[in-house]
Amino acid sequence: MAGTAREISAGGVLYRRSENGPEVACIVLKGGKVLALPKGLIDPGEAPEEAAAREVAEETGMRGIPEAPLGYIKYGYRDPRRDLRIFKLVHFFLFRYEAGDPRDHDAEVEEVRWLPMEEAAEKLSYRGERETVRRALELLGEAGG
Ligand code: ATP
Repeated sequence: MAGTAREISAGGVLYRRSENGPEVACIVLKGGKVLALPKGLIDPGEAPEEAAAREVAEETGMRGIPEAPLGYIKYGYRDPRRDLRIFKLVHFFLFRYEAGDPRDHDAEVEEVRWLPMEEAAEKLSYRGERETVRRALELLGEAGG
């Protein structure tokens, strides 16, 4: 029978300003089927914000300056390899782009795309991440409508 586990991750909304409003770095996964925010497990002894900065850097090839916490999201999924039901909590932080090149992304990531934040808030694959980008837009004072 499948057991359960809890895991805690951290991720980032890495943004930059453009003439058409703020843009966010999104990662493309699973053969283009998934559009997501960079995130990953917090290492032992690591603070959530540090883990978020590390995951953003590893997955997108770019670094940012942390500006604000964006709360957390929760979801569950089944890990067939470990025969476990995983309950995951992911802390998100807002980062202002500082340096780096999206071509230096992680091998696990197919592509990194700068998308207008309004577009990402509609197109990201997971509801929690769409809501996280909405919160970032509100913080930046650019929520449309
Ligand atoms: P890591 O734990 O190191 O971050 P992982 O790939 O094992 O890597 P997730 O990115 O959480 O962990 O992905 C595990 C499963 O959860 C996948 O099936 C994925 O599609 C799904 N998933 C990922 N992010 C979300 C989300 N924000 N909301 C709902 N489901 C998600």
